[in-house]
Amino acid sequence: MTATLATSPLTAADRCDRCGAQAYVRVVLASGGELLFCAHHGREHAPALSDASAMIQDESERLRQVSTTSAVEDR
Ligand SMILES: [Zn+2]
Repeated sequence: MTATLATSPLTAADRCDRCGAQAYVRVVLASGGELLFCAHHGREHAPALSDASAMIQDESERLRQVSTTSAVEDR
């Protein structure tokens, strides 16, 4: 239990490397590289990347919370 999560939460400025949509999944590679994916591409690529990656930070759960909230404000 010595490892501390050094990653910061994903923001609206973080964009999917594949399509440019807002990123909800961050993949930190064992080599030190970092990939960002939207929820769609995160689901598509995360399983294949899990072998090469040190960590996968999946915040796509937030999509449901956000969409529930923003639906109320829709006008
Ligand atoms: Zn994408």
